Amino acid sequence: MTEPVYRYLRGYALDPGFSARLDTAAINEVIYRIPFEPLKPGPVGEYVEVFDFDPASNCWYDPVSLADEAIASQNGLAPSEGNPQFHQQFVYAVVMKVIHHFERALGRKIVWQPRIDGTGAKREWRYVRRLRIHPHAIRDANAFFDRDRKALLFGYFRASPRSQGTNYPGGLVFSCLSPDIVAHEAAHALLDSLHPRYLEDTNPDVPAFHEGFADIVALLQRFSFRELVEHQLYSSGGRMDRYTVLGELATQFGEALEGNRGALRGMIGKKNEKDEWEPLKASPSDYASNAECHARGAVLVATIFDAFQRIYNFRTRDLVRIATNGTGVLPEGSISRDLVHRLAGEAAEIAEHLLHICIRALDYCPPNDITFGSYLRALITADVDIAPEDETGYRLALIEAFRARGIFPSRVNSLSVDSLCWNAPEFTSKERDTIDWLAKKMKSDIRSLVETRDREEIYKRSRAAQARFHTLLTGKSLKLGGQEREDFLNKLGMTSRPVSLLFGESSAAVRFLRNGRPDNGYVPPIEVHTIRPSFRAGREGRQVEQVMVTLTQSVTADIGQKGSPRNMVFRGGCSLILSFGSLNTVEHVIVKNITSYHRFQQQEKYRNGLGGGVSNAAAALYSGGGREWMVRFQHLHAEHHE
Ligand SMILES: [Zn+2]
Repeated sequence: MTEPVYRYLRGYALDPGFSARLDTAAINEVIYRIPFEPLKPGPVGEYVEVFDFDPASNCWYDPVSLADEAIASQNGLAPSEGNPQFHQQFVYAVVMKVIHHFERALGRKIVWQPRIDGTGAKREWRYVRRLRIHPHAIRDANAFFDRDRKALLFGYFRASPRSQGTNYPGGLVFSCLSPDIVAHEAAHALLDSLHPRYLEDTNPDVPAFHEGFADIVALLQRFSFRELVEHQLYSSGGRMDRYTVLGELATQFGEALEGNRGALRGMIGKKNEKDEWEPLKASPSDYASNAECHARGAVLVATIFDAFQRIYNFRTRDLVRIATNGTGVLPEGSISRDLVHRLAGEAAEIAEHLLHICIRALDYCPPNDITFGSYLRALITADVDIAPEDETGYRLALIEAFRARGIFPSRVNSLSVDSLCWNAPEFTSKERDTIDWLAKKMKSDIRSLVETRDREEIYKRSRAAQARFHTLLTGKSLKLGGQEREDFLNKLGMTSRPVSLLFGESSAAVRFLRNGRPDNGYVPPIEVHTIRPSFRAGREGRQVEQVMVTLTQSVTADIGQKGSPRNMVFRGGCSLILSFGSLNTVEHVIVKNITSYHRFQQQEKYRNGLGGGVSNAAAALYSGGGREWMVRFQHLHAEHHE
């Protein structure tokens, strides 16, 4: 018997509270369609395992067995707040749906970040097959991705005793039943699997990006439920900018909290004094005036949602004109069911495309120290690679939305598609020969990586390919010596020189450290982090075949005052996008230069609390476990509701 392609599981489209509201009850139960895989009770599958121990009540809940015929034949268990087995099924469904989006957008299998055991020379990397999901991990209004445990932890708590929103006063609220919260946490884990250094807080955009990106995934995933979108468009008369519950994330979670702060992240609009919902207007000062990481993350979400609305308006103009006898102005009140049906189809399709662009752009982001401006460049470049014509207006909509909130990339002359695209530096002919030689030497490793579908095998082969690339790039066989080698590495954001020469004359002002001791004679080692082949199908039927390589180098410096030392790791390098084919070429180099003293000083200021505006308050949030300046989601998320 052949295996089915998909598994269908019932679940909530919005938070469970919406099932108790007359206007949304009918549409809150939807079917999650996820790729079929054999499952053990838990569920335990290829990517995740649900592990349901509740420490607060010292209790194990029986694991749900989705393979049981009685359950499978009914599209899983019926949504129920009181049934822990449904909770297990639901976290599994939502997380798998997010993973599926990532794999489709990236054109490859997801492999979690390895676990690092031991320290120093005894460090060992271990393959992590499954992310662990704890639906009832803590009795607290929090949920977070725990990077060390490779786990998603969901809390539950008793709602505030006063009646608020749709929550039964004093009832239990489960964060694992909010599709937005679950998708948000899954997105953190997936982003970390692609960019582990985005947990190093080097500028105010870095933690804001993690938060904003996770919300974007949750928000756009919501729009893939066509029935829900249809219902919402019907009640808003076809207008995307009117109040819809779609625009508010995690409503129940927020409503249940003491003091009723409304939706956790109502970034698209809010209630005015008359208790009427109003969309928030974009302002060019939005980015600059919101430095705190949740607020700044919300700016990114609002920007992407704005782009979504622009694309929607652009793409549905003709439909609206046809429906209004050419006036293009929708009448107030209800509109035709047929029109709503078509509009919802467009909206769902746009949301999915946009979500995939947002995910795909991650491959075009620098390996560390991300800024929103560089994310815009990544979005545009990724999209040009896959859809050179932009017949559907996605790129212009994104550019307009970023401009409307004052998000500009540094060192870009204009916000045209051409100038926003990342390019490759001018390589000399000798450097081009070197790249060609590197690519040829790597070909068999790449082929072997492409050929396997087994995730553990992908992990192992990727590590072998990394080691080989490292040997080639740093060894004697690289036919570039002295200044030539230095020039070549500089174009990749790195150096072959000792740290005493890193920033030219300014190096003398920096107290470089190695293993905790002053040392300005070492050459920072080059690290090859990832080698990932990727095959993506583009919007215009284009097939793109590329290999992504991440290279980094880091130095440590003491940036403290006299007598109170303070270590700071400063990192540089690049994301390299190579195209393999008859011609081996470097398509894009996305650089964070390690030789940039300006960037070093920016980071130093930020760490010492002079720049960014949040540093000192944030320092307490992120530090912990002896690793300073690592973003800790446990603290980052708890701040929303305490
Ligand atoms: Zn988060």
